[in-house]
Amino acid sequence: MQRSTSNVSIAARSVGRCEFAVEHSAIDAPAIDAPAFRRRLLAWYRTQGRDLPWRHTREPYAILVSEIMLQQTQVVAVRPYYIEWLRRFPDFATLAAAPESDVLHAWQGLGYYARARNLHAAAKIIAGEKRSVFPMDINQMRQLPGLGRYTANAVASFAFDQAVPLVEANTGRVLARLLNLQLRIDSAAGRDAVWNRATELLPRTNARDYNSALMDLGALICVPGPPKCSLCPVRPFCRAEEPALLPRKRPRAALKYITEHHRFSLRKGRVLLEQSHTRWRGMWILPRLNGCGALGDLLHSTEFPFTHHRVTLAVYSGGEFLAPPPQRRWFAFDELSSLPLPSPHRRALDHLFAASPTNSLQRFPAALPSTTRMPPAASLKTPCAR
Ligand code: SF4
Repeated sequence: MQRSTSNVSIAARSVGRCEFAVEHSAIDAPAIDAPAFRRRLLAWYRTQGRDLPWRHTREPYAILVSEIMLQQTQVVAVRPYYIEWLRRFPDFATLAAAPESDVLHAWQGLGYYARARNLHAAAKIIAGEKRSVFPMDINQMRQLPGLGRYTANAVASFAFDQAVPLVEANTGRVLARLLNLQLRIDSAAGRDAVWNRATELLPRTNARDYNSALMDLGALICVPGPPKCSLCPVRPFCRAEEPALLPRKRPRAALKYITEHHRFSLRKGRVLLEQSHTRWRGMWILPRLNGCGALGDLLHSTEFPFTHHRVTLAVYSGGEFLAPPPQRRWFAFDELSSLPLPSPHRRALDHLFAASPTNSLQRFPAALPSTTRMPPAASLKTPCAR
């Protein structure tokens, strides 16, 4: 029987007094009959594949926008943003010419704003030194801000139909299960194993459809948790013994709970905001407070996730500002809808202005889940050094 060339040996190491087996399990599975695998996958895709707006174009700009939006974000959340983004910034030149505040405003609610800044920076390079011609060469693509191996390959595959593999959350899960990969997929060896197998299975032509099909299999059938193996078109090729346990990953860092204190100040119908220089850089937030001082009345509290933190946003009527005065400005209510505001602060302002139903700041479905509640103000106080 033909064997895979991508073997990883089992090893044991001794470190000080502690001896442990290195994670590993040989990737010694028999090679898959790649042409037969592809035929089955593509036949399924032709009838069951998803109809996604970015699959109706081969424009590198539109495909790049979709791929950057889809990093860390689900299709259902991305779809309305993608359509609105292309209406507002239809090409590299328009995006390059836009002020950063407009770019952040169009992105607000999607989170991970570094993606928007990178896309903006990439557009400036393409519209400037590349004269609006997107490179076809993957190495050149990877020189652009925000384009790693996956994103460059995705544009090469979907815009230019180049035969390059794609490994992201969906395809990585499918490949790890097909291989019965016991390595952690977020380890260097696990990543290499999956990328190597993705390359081995890739067709020389029509890689665009093949890659889309593998993604859809992961999104619709080989889903996280228990997969729908009874519906799977490539089941005869799958070596997974306990698919629900795959892919293996490093355990998540424990959630940390923190409280951040902000102030709501109104004067003559204007609200005071602070331009952030740290998280959400360039966006406007309710001014930060020194949580150790007197804080006034608690007006609102919301929880939101941020990386491995669970943050409580607590808004007060008073308190000592943290940032120097030049970072704060008063805004009229009707200016708020055109300002870039991160979702938790937009929701807080929406809540605080809720007395007037016509004053809603909400423009898009919020991408981040939240609960709104009012704990006792004392429980939100930051423990301060004496
Ligand atoms: S048989 Fe099950 S585990 Fe294997 S690829 Fe199909 S859905 Fe995934």
